[in-house]
Amino acid sequence: MEKHFAVIGNPIAHSLSPAMHQGGYREMGLEADYLRCEVEPHALPQAVQGLKALGFTGWNVTVPFKEQIIPWLDELTPEALRAGAVNTVKVMEDGRLLGHNTDGKGFVRSIQEELKPEKDMQVVILGAGGAAKGIAMALLPYQVKITLLNRTMERAQQLAELINSRGGRAVAEAWGPGEWLKSAQLIVQTTSLGLKKEKYSFSLEGISPETLVVDIIFNPWETPFLREARERGCRTLNGAGMLLYQGALAWEFWLGGQAPVAGMKKGLLEALPK
Ligand code: NDP
Repeated sequence: MEKHFAVIGNPIAHSLSPAMHQGGYREMGLEADYLRCEVEPHALPQAVQGLKALGFTGWNVTVPFKEQIIPWLDELTPEALRAGAVNTVKVMEDGRLLGHNTDGKGFVRSIQEELKPEKDMQVVILGAGGAAKGIAMALLPYQVKITLLNRTMERAQQLAELINSRGGRAVAEAWGPGEWLKSAQLIVQTTSLGLKKEKYSFSLEGISPETLVVDIIFNPWETPFLREARERGCRTLNGAGMLLYQGALAWEFWLGGQAPVAGMKKGLLEALPK
């Protein structure tokens, strides 16, 4: 029987998830479709009930619904509870709706080939929004040391407190260059600065070329921030890997087994604006 999946959000027109998942269906010869559904904010509960009533196997959730959807679900996985946000929903056999979050683990999987997080590793996260929180929570089990910088310092402080209250080690620092540039082993750029190819707020002068620098934006493929890091000799990754692996983990959550990562990657790359 054909399976149905979707991504809900607003706006959603530019989501690459359908192309990515359809690439996976092609590789596996799976009879399935994956729709892009724009949901009006006031209609979220109806959309959730509608997808369930129509027999969808599961769906992804994106901006602005990752937190708003929680009251409409029956249960959350530990990952969703830790992140306080849901990006994947599965309809269980008994009809209950299980909310999960694959963003943070997707990030960790996306850097594995370059760097494995380990105890005491110095990690700097730029930004303190939803993506920063998801990544920080997924790094908790590795006992890394996290420095958080955010334009609005209060938010960085709040996130640091949350991380520390859950057994992690985090400090907040002022938004701008500092000693952290020399000591960071991993820098993760999670702000939306660069989406419009705008210059970063500060220079990376003094960064160690040993640092792995990740910008979770993937469109543009290389933000000015990431270009500067590359030009200063650092290894760099954009956010396409995070998108791919959060999708692969969602696939595995819905269907079990191993996700067809090669097919999903092909679908994703073909759909990226050139
Ligand atoms: P949020 O709205 O939750 O957070 C936005 C963050 O960006 C805040 O830290 C905010 O700082 C900061 N910011 C915004 N504008 C500026 C600016 N002009 N200067 C400095 N900082 C700024 O968004 P998300 O965390 O959900 O998403 C952030 C980015 O991550 C987006 O670009 C999104 O596309 C990308 N993303 C990529 C994913 C992937 O799979 N690759 C997954 C999820 C997100 P302040 O608190 O001061 O406002």
